[in-house]
Amino acid sequence: MLNRLRNEGYSAILLEHEALGRGQTMASQGMIHGGIKYTLSGALSGASEAIADMPEYWSRCLRGEGDVDLRGSSVLSEHFYLWSTNAPGSKLSAFFASHALRGRADKLAPADYPTALQHADFRGSVYRLVDIVLDTPDIVRRLADNARAHIYKIDWRQSRIARDKSSGEATLQIVDGDTTCSVRSRALIFAAGLGNEALLSALGAGKPSMQRRPLQQVMVKHPALPTFYGHCLGASTTPRLTISSHRLEDGCAVWYLGGELAEQGVETLPDQLIAQAKAELGKLFPWIDLGDAAWATLAIERAEPRQKNLVRPDQAYAGWVDTCPNVIAAWPVKLTLAPNLGQQVSTLLQARKILQPGSAREDIELPLPQPTIAATPWAEAFT
Ligand SMILES: Cc1cc2nc3c(=O)[nH]c(=O)nc-3n(C[C@H](O)[C@H](O)[C@H](O)COP(=O)(O)OP(=O)(O)OC[C@H]3O[C@@H](n4cnc5c(N)ncnc54)[C@H](O)[C@@H]3O)c2cc1C
Repeated sequence: MLNRLRNEGYSAILLEHEALGRGQTMASQGMIHGGIKYTLSGALSGASEAIADMPEYWSRCLRGEGDVDLRGSSVLSEHFYLWSTNAPGSKLSAFFASHALRGRADKLAPADYPTALQHADFRGSVYRLVDIVLDTPDIVRRLADNARAHIYKIDWRQSRIARDKSSGEATLQIVDGDTTCSVRSRALIFAAGLGNEALLSALGAGKPSMQRRPLQQVMVKHPALPTFYGHCLGASTTPRLTISSHRLEDGCAVWYLGGELAEQGVETLPDQLIAQAKAELGKLFPWIDLGDAAWATLAIERAEPRQKNLVRPDQAYAGWVDTCPNVIAAWPVKLTLAPNLGQQVSTLLQARKILQPGSAREDIELPLPQPTIAATPWAEAFT
């Protein structure tokens, strides 16, 4: 959003209180999905429609042809795979034969299977999706490099946000050691993930409210693990297991496991969840020996605008906060939808006519330190 708003001419700055990407972004599996995962119930839902164009959108940015320049950032994989151990003729086969896919998934011949599934004992079907996998830390670094001079670290132990009693407008009192500055802005955009809740409550704003959807991801580190990115489909409409692969600095591979395992494992003790994950990988990949692997789990919450019955929202959300006329609350809902969020915020700002045609941008410089880029959960768990 910072990149996009600056490209549009706004004197936008970003204030980070810990490290860039700390929380959900670094914990994400990096998949930029075109929504196939959400179409498994058979019909195209709002979610799959909203994100169908996202892989191509991100690819344009990676080629330097999009709204935001991401040239030079690494992509971990050009494809994500979808595999099933179900027999032919199952509901899944019917789904894949349906029109819902619209050329977004290709059935693979065994010779084209990813290495992890290339084994004589493998039984099932494998599809290749258009979804790409980003190297998330690298993307965050690239986005930060594009706007380094406009990113600051804020220390909330000293700083305050307050709402003016008569106008309702929010202002920031930033204090860092001996430095004090007061920042008034036409738009304060809360895009702080879980942190939005405390920021909104500091202003006494009840709406929009936030929901948390927890997960407990599992990580397994072993040098013999091949690079693999895939959803395994079971009987339900959410993937039974979602695997992404990441490298530690020593070159060792980590498989990062999400999907039903992580959704249903929220209340499970880490050791028990690790035992379940071992059993699951033993069933799905009996040919991979994980005998002396290192294991860890990550409990994490997804922060989203509140929905009825706490379901997953369909799109990114950005809206003015009703009690504070200069505050926008924003949640991308998915890493994939970050451009969708940028677009929504841009539309809200345009409607306020904050940018005057022909006027030069007046950048502010704050005497504040810069934040670092957050570490990944696998680096934190295994190094
Ligand atoms: C395990 C997991 C896997 C996921 N996998 C995928 C995936 O493969 N593909 C996908 O599209 N989406 C995925 N997601 C969702 C995606 O990660 C999130 O939707 C997205 O990263 C949210 O980004 P965000 O910037 O809103 O929040 P966050 O990434 O949580 O970042 C919030 C930032 O705000 C900062 N902050 C917090 N409070 C304050 C404050 N008061 N002041 C200043 N700064 C503050 C934090 O330090 C942090 O840098 C996944 C999520 C999880 C949890």
